[in-house]
Amino acid sequence: MPIVAVDDTDSRERGMCTTYVATRIAERLADAGGRVRRRLLVRLNPAVKHKTRGNAAVALHVSGVDAGGAEAVAVEAVEEFAAASDPRTSPGVVVAGLDAAGDPFDATGSPIPEAVAAFARRALRERLSVAEAVGLADEHGFRHAAVGPAGGADATEAVAGRGRIGALAAVGATAAFDDWTFERIAYRELDRCGTPREVGVESVFAAAEEGYPTVWDTVDRETGAAVCVPNAPGPILYGIRGDDADACRAVAAAVDGERVDRAATFLTNQGTDAHLAPGRIGDLRDGAGYRVVGVVASATETKRGGHVHVEVAGDRGAVGAGSGEAGSGEESDADRLRAVAFAPTGRFRDRVRALRPGDRVTLCGEHEVRDDADGPESTLKLEKFAVRDLVRTAPAVPACPECGRSMSSAGRDQGYRCRDCGTSAPGKIEEPIERDLEAGWYEVPPSARRHVAKPLVRGGFDAPTHPER
Ligand code: ATP
Repeated sequence: MPIVAVDDTDSRERGMCTTYVATRIAERLADAGGRVRRRLLVRLNPAVKHKTRGNAAVALHVSGVDAGGAEAVAVEAVEEFAAASDPRTSPGVVVAGLDAAGDPFDATGSPIPEAVAAFARRALRERLSVAEAVGLADEHGFRHAAVGPAGGADATEAVAGRGRIGALAAVGATAAFDDWTFERIAYRELDRCGTPREVGVESVFAAAEEGYPTVWDTVDRETGAAVCVPNAPGPILYGIRGDDADACRAVAAAVDGERVDRAATFLTNQGTDAHLAPGRIGDLRDGAGYRVVGVVASATETKRGGHVHVEVAGDRGAVGAGSGEAGSGEESDADRLRAVAFAPTGRFRDRVRALRPGDRVTLCGEHEVRDDADGPESTLKLEKFAVRDLVRTAPAVPACPECGRSMSSAGRDQGYRCRDCGTSAPGKIEEPIERDLEAGWYEVPPSARRHVAKPLVRGGFDAPTHPER
């Protein structure tokens, strides 16, 4: 059973979408006598700079066609539909599976070579090269093609057919990941692309309410946004995400709007946190997603543009949640991280602003090393965080036990005293403070969610959750 995978077919300006191209490939494979058993929509490293938007690749698990025939169909469809005239588009196709006689894949798409599964896992957390993808595909006898003028309008040799990176990762995906969700995608008629989408927002909200919590991230109830309807110029009318394919289909079917030209259901690693791994502050790579534990080390600060920053220090003796490893070493300036909740994360910023120095937290997000005036700065773009332990008291000037008024300082390091009553106290006292946070997980709202980030409503977290919807 061949796996036919494709990536890098769209353009920010011209539109198009790899899932649409794959849907057309699937139709043509069916016309050629094939049976499409599964469509995978695989999100890759969100930190890759040359992505168009969501860094997605698609793989089709097909039976009833041979790999050579499947490749020809895929290449033809990519030539026809990909936005290859955009110089930044660099389409690639990978077809795994031998011709009918030597078919190495069973009906579940496995066994996929472990090296290819490992490539898929790395594609979520590293930056990989076309050369490595091509080398690995060749090693396993996979067919691959760079499509379009020299594999993309102005592709150099190093990036020609760059889509083969994502395509090969999509081939390995079922063997690489064990948490899967679904998306039902409805497409527009192609000649309507670029015009405003006609979707009945009320019907979206009603269907979303009906489908929740199995179906999630359809709308953002606080902002009133229909999150399932994209803004980009491509052919997607809406995409309904959730934990059950039938439930996604039911919500999709209940949405009113312009004519749906075609629709497809994908199995996907969206909403799974597949991009996160445990890490330790002070030892994080640029362009990778992490889960780290730490202690809030500064007051929060709202910067120009509305981005909220807070410094977090490494929590010695602990590594990212769930790793079970012990931390080590002395704390230094390098063991600090700037956690940032960007303006588009909206109300999530209020949760971050509610943090105080001393709070113990677990933070999730993409790590980036940013060049600041003072040198490279370790930054975590926050997607969610867990409050582990809240500071519940703050130092306060003691009150006089006789008259109840605040005491005054008795001089440097000499504590406090009440001038009227002559009473004294050795130093500040700890007073209880009100906190706006509780223990557990907080997340960005659906309208700010990264495709691969796991919504709290899906469950499986190690503390109480405070889901946004
Ligand atoms: P679409 O959503 O329509 O698929 P996109 O946001 O996925 O668009 P692409 O145009 O597909 O963006 O561009 C992503 C490019 O990055 C592809 O060429 C893909 O092969 C490549 N790529 C994906 N993951 C990695 C990675 N980890 N390292 C290097 N390149 C990668």
